[in-house]
Amino acid sequence: MGDALVCPVCMGNTKVIDSRSTGDHSIRRRRKCVNGHRFTTFEVLSNEADQLDMLEKAEKELLAVADRLEKLSNHIRAAMKGKEQ
Ligand SMILES: [Zn+2]
Repeated sequence: MGDALVCPVCMGNTKVIDSRSTGDHSIRRRRKCVNGHRFTTFEVLSNEADQLDMLEKAEKELLAVADRLEKLSNHIRAAMKGKEQ
C-alpha cells in the first residue's frame, strides 16, 4: 500500500496494527515491526499544521498587544491619578 515506514529501532519493515482518528483530521497509528518493536505515529494534515503554526503566531502577537495595552492603561491610570491630586 505504499506504506514504507521503517522501525526507528531496527529499521525493519513495519505494519499498522491499529489506527484511529483522534478528532480533527488527525490519525494515530500503532505499528509493529518484524522484530516486535511497537511504536505510534501521528498524522496531521499539513495545511492543518500550517494553521496551527499561524494560530501560534497570532497568539504570540495577541499576547504582545495585551502587554502593550496593559502598560498603556497603567500609564493612563497613573496620569488620571496625577490629575486628581
Ligand atoms: Zn524494530
